[in-house]
Amino acid sequence: MIRQETRRSPTWPLRAAALGLVLLLFLFLLPLLLLPEERRGTEKTGQEPSPLPTATLPLMEPAVASPVSGWDQGNALRLLRGDGQVEELTLRDYLWGVTAAEMPASFQLEALKAQTVAARTYCLYQRAGAGEKHPGADVCDDYTCCQAYLTPEQAAVGWGAEAENYAAKINRALLETDGLVCLYEGKPIDAVFFSSTAGRTSDAVSVWGTEIPYLSAVDSPEGEEVPGWQTVVTFSPEDFTTRFQGAYPEADLTVPPQDWFRDLVQDDSGVVTTVTIGGVSLSGGQARSLFGLRSAHFTAAATEEAVTFWVTGYGHAVGMSQYGANAMAGEGKSFQEILEWYYTGVEVAGMP
Ligand SMILES: [Zn+2]
Repeated sequence: MIRQETRRSPTWPLRAAALGLVLLLFLFLLPLLLLPEERRGTEKTGQEPSPLPTATLPLMEPAVASPVSGWDQGNALRLLRGDGQVEELTLRDYLWGVTAAEMPASFQLEALKAQTVAARTYCLYQRAGAGEKHPGADVCDDYTCCQAYLTPEQAAVGWGAEAENYAAKINRALLETDGLVCLYEGKPIDAVFFSSTAGRTSDAVSVWGTEIPYLSAVDSPEGEEVPGWQTVVTFSPEDFTTRFQGAYPEADLTVPPQDWFRDLVQDDSGVVTTVTIGGVSLSGGQARSLFGLRSAHFTAAATEEAVTFWVTGYGHAVGMSQYGANAMAGEGKSFQEILEWYYTGVEVAGMP
């Protein structure tokens, strides 16, 4: 080594210059490397776009097993499949398939953990109701009724090249939340969730007509980063008439289209609670399903040319917003903080 140094001594000034250049570059890049850490600590402004999901970063930190490790494996659940068969699964296997099916695995680890706890809470709430919804089963695999479910093989097909990475993330979400649920007055809650809002969730009472204290409206930080956050749905006046009178034959659409919509009432979150169309009053949810809207957060207008709905968000807007959970996780919030934010007054703990 020393001999080489001696031999190369004529190039020393060049090497010093190169070293200086590298140091300069490092100093220039240093603030950029530190920036994500700093951003995580800042308070949300509501205007700042959420950082994109970082799939691998949280996985570099060591896993912290749940205080009630092994609980999921020791509990069983009866799952009604689409073909009418009832399958008995460990809670661990069931929740793996629900998390894989219900939330993009590219999401932040803390969001996936919040999703796992919500899914566990939801199915234990249903199980406590002992077949009220499905005789002979605790839950079904239909997302419009209970929760979606994918087998590991189905999930791997959807994930493609990321399958190994995403499966490891879901394993970790289960390990770190094993047996944990959201409790209100010591009981698992009806932990409903949905995709995204326009910036605020809704009270259960304004959407479903039932007051549920832990399902109260809260601000939700998602926005432009949500795919299909704002959508426009258009009908010709003829198609609209056919569809609406098919469901409500008593509707009077003989007046000019400009007068079809009346009294569109929105809650504080912007979700339509009631709207009158052609003299027929219906709920935002009824309008949503009849016209195939992604959410009941909409405004509408009719002219001689077209009937148009402008829609924001996706889902019923009650409980936990999945994109909101991901945005909160991106701001450094833990799964407990996310769950306690969306489910008012709950405690995240093992089953009593
Ligand atoms: Zn069901």
